[in-house]
Amino acid sequence: MLAHDKREKSLVAVIGAGVVGLTTALLLQCNNYDVTIIASEFPKDEKAHPDYASPKAGAHWRSMCDEDDSRAKGYDTLSYRTFQELAKNPESGVRIRDAIDYFDFNPTGHEGHDPWWSKIVEDFKQIPSTNADFPIAYSYKTPVITPSIYLHFLLHQFKKAGGHIQHRKLSHVTEAALWVGTKPKPVKIIINCAGFQARYLGGVQDLRCYQTRGQTAVVRASWIHETVTWISKTGSIMYVIPRTNGDVVLGGSHEAHQNNESVSGTKTTHILRTIIDRYPKILTPGSSPAYAASLDLLCKFDIVDQKVGFRPSRIGGVRVEVEHGRTGTGQHVLIAHNYGHGGAGYQSSWGTAFDLLKMIEQAQREVPEDLHETAKL
Ligand SMILES: Cc1cc2nc3c(=O)[nH]c(=O)nc-3n(C[C@H](O)[C@H](O)[C@H](O)COP(=O)(O)OP(=O)(O)OC[C@H]3O[C@@H](n4cnc5c(N)ncnc54)[C@H](O)[C@@H]3O)c2cc1C
Repeated sequence: MLAHDKREKSLVAVIGAGVVGLTTALLLQCNNYDVTIIASEFPKDEKAHPDYASPKAGAHWRSMCDEDDSRAKGYDTLSYRTFQELAKNPESGVRIRDAIDYFDFNPTGHEGHDPWWSKIVEDFKQIPSTNADFPIAYSYKTPVITPSIYLHFLLHQFKKAGGHIQHRKLSHVTEAALWVGTKPKPVKIIINCAGFQARYLGGVQDLRCYQTRGQTAVVRASWIHETVTWISKTGSIMYVIPRTNGDVVLGGSHEAHQNNESVSGTKTTHILRTIIDRYPKILTPGSSPAYAASLDLLCKFDIVDQKVGFRPSRIGGVRVEVEHGRTGTGQHVLIAHNYGHGGAGYQSSWGTAFDLLKMIEQAQREVPEDLHETAKL
């Protein structure tokens, strides 16, 4: 019976092993597809290629969707719920933590209104702000993800359930058909989760894709268990995000169209100085205010790492779409896209993957007339 089910599964190739590719692959696999992930970069401990965004992320759930963007709101909502479930498994690298967001402006545009996501998250409250420069403050519970654990967790779940992986770089989206499937049993669906590289991948070459540079400093501060964010109307966002191992990520920067891979010492100093000013708790418990104000900044932290990452941004937002196409040998294939998540690839990952799955199932029922013959082959 099992062998029969296996034969009936459609073959799927997912290009990309970032958080988006891994999530999409796992979801398709759970829905009875036979999935292979092809990627030039997989989660690993050594230094990854700078374009590979997922290992460099914060990463916490803090929705940045506009009130009137129902599609993006749906993505973040579904992902929040899924992360709540994942957090029940201590091996996932996901924890539900206390979160505080400070604003120097009213993000809803209306006095007294709560943001749309206040009804989604657990324990939402407007709280009195302790910082006169950031008079609006919200507290709530949110998922915080340790990428180095979570990416391996997703990959492990995928492999354990029989998923295949191939380590290679593709030059064209339909090249996946050469590596997955055979002539009698060809690949049926190719899913492009190439992140920023969708700009260069043949058959896609999406010029709306660009990078937004982000720099962070990782420090040892095992006494910090909450995530805190300061959001300014200038677009500056600073944050404190604890990892599961006692490290804490301090950030950050949002530099659109910047591709400098080197750590900037000036930026690190700015991040550390700003975080000490706004959040003296980051210093070893018992540190005096005079110590916090003294000049010897770098000595105050046990800096474990400094990272530069590139968010895969896209003009117009994330692309979640399915189209009909042909492989090099003329076979009908569905080409599905899930890329361009910008700074929200974790917090929208499950939502975009579920939406894509629905689109794929719909598209399979609606093969255009002129593609019918090859579709049946
Ligand atoms: C500093 C920083 C902080 C962030 N904080 C957060 C946060 O708090 N919350 C949040 O939700 N998001 C955050 N993000 C954003 C998040 O990291 C990204 O949105 C997410 O990682 C994008 O994932 P992805 O899978 O689309 O792309 P990537 O992780 O870049 O993966 C792309 C994959 O495609 C593969 N690939 C590309 N081209 C090819 C090819 N031609 N052939 C084969 N394989 C190919 C690559 O090898 C890789 O496996 C942050 C990002 C940064 C830089």
